[in-house]
Amino acid sequence: MSVRVVARIRPLLEKELNKDIIVRAGHAEPGKASTTVKIPSPKNDAEEFSFAFNAVYDQSTSQETLFASEVQPHLKSLFQGYDVTIFAYGVTGTGKTHTMRGGMKLADRGVIPRLLSGVFRRGKKIAKDTEDNTTVKVSLSYYEIYNDKVFDLLEPPEKRTPSGLPLRAEASGRTVVAGLSERACDDLRDFEKLYVEANNNRVTASTKLNAHSSRSHAVLRVKVTQISEDMIKESTVSAIDLAGSEDNRRTDNDKERLVESAAINKSLFVLSQCIDAISRGDKRIPYRESKMTRILSLGQNKGITVMILNLAPLRSYHLDTLSSLSVSSRAKRI
Ligand code: ADP
Ligand code: MG
Repeated sequence: MSVRVVARIRPLLEKELNKDIIVRAGHAEPGKASTTVKIPSPKNDAEEFSFAFNAVYDQSTSQETLFASEVQPHLKSLFQGYDVTIFAYGVTGTGKTHTMRGGMKLADRGVIPRLLSGVFRRGKKIAKDTEDNTTVKVSLSYYEIYNDKVFDLLEPPEKRTPSGLPLRAEASGRTVVAGLSERACDDLRDFEKLYVEANNNRVTASTKLNAHSSRSHAVLRVKVTQISEDMIKESTVSAIDLAGSEDNRRTDNDKERLVESAAINKSLFVLSQCIDAISRGDKRIPYRESKMTRILSLGQNKGITVMILNLAPLRSYHLDTLSSLSVSSRAKRI
């Protein structure tokens, strides 16, 4: 199991142009990404904290560069049979959805559409190049975890039950979501259609449940099956837009919000513990402690995990930014 933790600082939005910037990427060697994030102490601007990452991408980083640096290199491993997991972590408003889904314009497209495009391209190439009639099948499932309950995003919200879908342990030791739908996808156009539909399901459901997308984790799972005459190889790549990591208790204290923030804080905490344990090479990964890490069997399979910490450079995010920096493991204060 290998894990990378990287940070991405978003640019200022138009309405923020006159605001105070406090988060910066440290100096990089020529031709390389920076590896530190600098931020002042909340008590004293003259005192600067530095957090180390595997790589830090500043506000000028394009969607293409981020994908080419952090996701594309793992496509080969995926087709060799390894599971790949990409997380976007961070405070609401810092660019998680922009990083994962992105905008409609070609250049703005995020990790997910680029990933699918790469999977289809590689799949077609393998099918064409191999002599043993290998066929490659791609299918997806997409669900959200809200208050520690799993809801299928490929099904209309009317079909949801209040308790969500149950988890089931398989004989192999793997945990699966029982009754989750899976759709075959032949090309990028197929995917785009499903993805738009599913994201609409998410929006409709969240207005009904009085939840916001920033309070649930959205998990897209792409299964790649390679079938040849004498074997079947199966692997998955998961792309996850996590719930906002801000301390919801500070801003909101009605009962429903408390339940939400308890569920969010717990699952994000367990996630960071798992990432820590994996990066230390521990044998025991506490993945059973939350539903999200259980379903992903985080640390149980050979594979690759990339955690992208999204950061907004503004002073108004100061405390939440500091706390997201200190829990995103590996991001050690130096
Ligand atoms: P989150 O999902 O973390 O709440 P969003 O992805 O919705 O945050 O981003 C908040 C706002 O910032 C959106 O308007 C988004 O378009 C913009 N944004 C985020 N990252 C970037 C970026 N790298 N370049 C340009 N705009 C960005
Ligand atoms: Mg979002």
